[in-house]
Amino acid sequence: MEVFILILVISLFAALIYLINKKNKKKKEAQQYPIQDSPIKIEVTTDKEEVFDTGDIVINPDGSYLINDKSHYHINIINISYEEVKKLKNTLDKVFIVGKWDLVNEVKIIVAKTNLRCKEIENYILEYKPIYDNSINELINISKEWAISSDMDKEDLLIEFQNQAINKLEVIPTKKIISLLTTSITDFTIDDIFIERFGMENFEFYLSYFHSGIKVHKLNADSWGRQKFEKLVELGLARRGKEIPIEDIINVLTLNEMNEILKGRIDKKITRKAQGIELFVKQEDAWELLSKNLSFRELFQLVQLPEDLKPYNLDKIKESWEYAEIIAEIILDTYERSYKAKKDFDEHVKELKEGWIKENWKIQNYDAICPCCIKDTEKKYPINRYPKVPHHIGCTCEVNYDF
Ligand SMILES: [Zn+2]
Ligand SMILES: [Zn+2]
Repeated sequence: MEVFILILVISLFAALIYLINKKNKKKKEAQQYPIQDSPIKIEVTTDKEEVFDTGDIVINPDGSYLINDKSHYHINIINISYEEVKKLKNTLDKVFIVGKWDLVNEVKIIVAKTNLRCKEIENYILEYKPIYDNSINELINISKEWAISSDMDKEDLLIEFQNQAINKLEVIPTKKIISLLTTSITDFTIDDIFIERFGMENFEFYLSYFHSGIKVHKLNADSWGRQKFEKLVELGLARRGKEIPIEDIINVLTLNEMNEILKGRIDKKITRKAQGIELFVKQEDAWELLSKNLSFRELFQLVQLPEDLKPYNLDKIKESWEYAEIIAEIILDTYERSYKAKKDFDEHVKELKEGWIKENWKIQNYDAICPCCIKDTEKKYPINRYPKVPHHIGCTCEVNYDF
């Protein structure tokens, strides 16, 4: 009897624990999968009072964010905070008003700053990079030329192999696919310190002139880039006017100008710049001579980076920003197409019900580079089977009547 009671007590106890666990689990699930009831309602309106609502941000069980719930092809963002994803979505929603080319830079800055990633692009790379790498290895193995080629020739051959390997891929989400598949960057945080200290756009401008070395840039007040150089001076990334070494300033002058300015002071005509500079600096009134012929305010020269930033590989930073740009372009493009396709689809359903539609459907793709998309353009779709696009991240297919 005692044993029986003991078993009964244990069973009751076990049942109780089971129930409590179950309840907790349910509670936990509810906490884990909250569907955001929009703290921000993103509705973009145009003159036509057309409302663009791509849906609220949804937090997925794995912590990623679904940013276009009300679109055909879902885009999920990882490696970013909720606040940041809100900012991203606000920017993306402007695409329906201003078009994507005006927004690429803005989105790119968000990508570079936050190091966010798009799950669908990452999955694409996971799936297709091994296929691509295998093709390259195969091509190298069967190439008779490779083993006996110089390094330069190998570089040239490799470009051919890359093109062949890409042609074998079934899905190609961007024309810049090669960067997605072969980036040498492993650490996307290397640029963070530059963004923080100088701002991405300023430093990008610095990088774009970096290879011009000590060259002095002459920019009048209306020149493109003048304000950007002024900003670099402010940030300590460039110097201006008399701060620039005199030899470098003289170098701005043409040979004719040098000869003209030094007329009467030299016996022979200057025929080389180096010779001209040498003669010029010997003049006691060199600065004054220059000031009569040049506006120092117009002269700018980049300076070297501060010591603590010198160890950074600037080419890698450039590469990581090019990568960010590609990601921005793909996200923007798919975000826009995906929503528009859904709207068209809804319209079609409505028209079908009302009996307006008589035609079949076809897929059109004006600059198809992707084999799977090209294949789709060859198919026929009956009236009641409206094709769903985009098919994949970066898919550029559009649906049209098949007259
Ligand atoms: Zn495709
Ligand atoms: Zn497609």
